[in-house]
Order: sequence, then C-alpha cells, then structure tokens
Amino acid sequence: MREILHIQGGQGGNQIGAKFWEVICDEHGIDGTGKYTGDSDLQLERINVYYNEASGGRYVPRAVLMDLEPGTMDSVRSGSFGQGAELIDSVLDVVRKEAENCDCLQGFQVCHSLGGGTGSGMGTLLISKIREEYPDRMMLTFSVFPSPKVSNTVVEPYNATLSVHQLVENADECMVLDNEALYDICFRTLKLSNPTFGDLNHLISATMSGVTCCLRFPGQLNSDLRKLAVNLIPFPRLHFFMVGFVPLTSRGSQQYRALTVPELTQHMWDAKNMMCAADPRHGRYLTASAMFRRKMSTKEVDEQMLNVQNKNSSYFVEWIPNNVKSSVCDIPPKGLKMASTFIGNSTSIQEMFRRVSEQFTAMFGRKSCRMKQQHRLVRNDDSKQRPNAVENSSRS
Ligand code: GDP
Repeated sequence: MREILHIQGGQGGNQIGAKFWEVICDEHGIDGTGKYTGDSDLQLERINVYYNEASGGRYVPRAVLMDLEPGTMDSVRSGSFGQGAELIDSVLDVVRKEAENCDCLQGFQVCHSLGGGTGSGMGTLLISKIREEYPDRMMLTFSVFPSPKVSNTVVEPYNATLSVHQLVENADECMVLDNEALYDICFRTLKLSNPTFGDLNHLISATMSGVTCCLRFPGQLNSDLRKLAVNLIPFPRLHFFMVGFVPLTSRGSQQYRALTVPELTQHMWDAKNMMCAADPRHGRYLTASAMFRRKMSTKEVDEQMLNVQNKNSSYFVEWIPNNVKSSVCDIPPKGLKMASTFIGNSTSIQEMFRRVSEQFTAMFGRKSCRMKQQHRLVRNDDSKQRPNAVENSSRS
C-alpha cells in the first residue's frame, strides 16, 4: 500500500479539493456515505492510495481540510460528501495522525490557490513544516495561479510570488492551474459568456482526475509520485508542470462522439487545451507525459505520440532522449467516452511566471498594497451566491 495524504486549504483550495473528491468517488464507485457501489475490481485495486478503510467496510477520503474561516468547510460538510469531515484546529497534529495510520505513505498532495491568504500563506507554511518532518516523502501540489480576468484583488501577485518561492524550495512537483487559462478556455473554447468559479473548477477537477489516474488505477507509467517526478524532472527546481486535458467540455454537457487516437493526441499538444496561459511553441519541452483513458491500442498511441515528436522535434530538447512517455488506462472518466491528460515540463511556462512578475513589479513600483477583495466571478451560478466584496482600509 502506498498511501497519499490529501490536504486542502483556503477558499479556492477547499473548493477544488471538494470537486476532486466528488469526481474520484464517482470513478471508484464510492457513494456519499463511503459505501462501495461500483462494478469493477479495478476500482478497488488501488483504493488505499486515496482512501482509508473504516469500520463497516466504508471508504473514507484520506483528506485534511483547513481554513482560517469556517465558511468554506461548513459548505463541504453540509454537502453530499460531508458526513464525517472534521474541523481541525491543529493541522500538523492531524497530518501526523493520518501519516501514522498509513502502511507506507508515499507522500502528500496539497490543493490551494496562491492569490489569497490562507491557501497561499498557510498552505506553503504547512508544506515547509511537512518537508521538515517528512523529508523523504513526496510533495505534490495543485496550485491555482491568480489572474486579473478572474479576480481583481490587487495584492494577488504579491501573494503568488511569495508562495511560488516556497514551492520552488519545498514542493517536489506542482501542477499549475492558471485561472487566466481556465477563464480563456471557458470563454473562447466553451463559449461561456459569463464563466463562474463552478465552470473553472469543472476543468480543474477533470484535470486532477486525469493527473492522478495513474496513481489510482493499476498501470505501468507514473504509478507513484516518485516515478512521476523521476520521469518529468531533470533538475529539481524545474518542477512546475503545464497540464492539458482533452476533450474540454462544459459542466453538464454531453459528449456525443468518441474522438480517435490521432484527434486526442493532436488536441492534447494544443496550447488551447493547456491549463496554463503559456504557449509551448515559445519554449521547448524538457519532458512530457500523456495518459490516455479508454481501452485502446497502445501501439496506435505510441505511433501517434512519436509522430508528434518527429514532426515537431525542434520543440523538444535534444539532450534528453525519449523524454515523452505515454500510457493507457482502460477506464474513461465518468461521463466521457474517452479522454487524455497531458503533463508537460516546458520552458515556456516562464510566460506565466513573467505575467505574475510584471503585475508584481507594476504594483511594487507604485508601492501599492491597497487591499481590495473582490472576485470577478460568481462562485456558483446555481446558488447565486457571490463572494463577499470586502474593502479593507488602504495603506500606502
Ligand atoms: P484564501 O481562502 O485566503 O486561500 O483565499 P482564496 O482561495 O479565495 O484566494 C483567492 C484567489 O483564489 C484568487 O486568485 C481567486 O481567483 C482564486 N479562487 C478562489 N476561489 C476559487 C475557485 O473556486 N476556483 C478557482 N479556480 N480559483 C479560485
């Protein structure tokens, strides 16, 4: 058993974490009370990676929720997957207790946003404390990067910059979820004229399910956090990944036609399908990895992937041979006929870092640290609930 301990913190982190669990519970046939109602042995074969087995044969997410405000976690607890969740006052104690219960913990995954305070500040503090206590365990993060298209709190680039610094040092692998790219996908590709956080999070949860699929189901490639790192990270600090997902669908929409392997492959490498606002053609790939989900011929997958590399060889560093890996998982995500997930370690990711850095510099130059909390997006169009608009006093 190689367990992963999941931690989610702050408003954004708790929202995307909750969606992640909804999606993977569905994929593994676990209902809201923890009962297994699935129909395939594959669903349970590696269930212990993310779930604890509790009394009565129930499966409970190995998840620690933290926030400095009770609101978000209350909403998780009152939701359909909320039974049994517990408010924590001392996060590290809880982490320790969970870690001790594991047979052979492989590492941690943290969901948080970098633009706010809790997920960003407390999240990276926790990451550094965990690193201190568990230096030989892996640390994976799903980090939401801020964009003025989504939220116009002016201090977000500050928060993000300070926490990126922490992630460089103390995380092993970071999946970049860039609100700028997520917004663009909703607006341009999915033609949603007014994207909500719910729409953005739908893309995030599909991606998280895709990225973790090789950890949760039996398979050969990237089957644990360390193997994922070994395949993707040539230098320890260059561990920020661009992730892509195909097919992109909006919430509640249906997929009528299964895509072919060449179509999946082609879309997967497309900048428009990346969850990070950076164009891979403006840089080069150090490494990349692809996971196809559906019963399909591995031979065809390998051929198509090689084809892409041969036609675009200038976009792959020549000094790492065989730097693209692919694999097939028989089980498609719920509601889709097939899908593929892409993880790339591309030098073009600097475009996103440069964007945040320019926003940082522009403000720093004006000595601006005015706090203005205002999300541009509504949280969820079903509930008509708007995030609080709080205007704090200005400081100069
Ligand atoms: P915290 O509770 O102090 O960690 O603050 P937040 O998580 O609200 O951080 C604010 C940043 O997170 C802003 O950049 C928001 O755009 C982003 N954010 C907040 N909630 C969500 C969400 O549900 N989904 C996404 N994609 N981003 C979010």
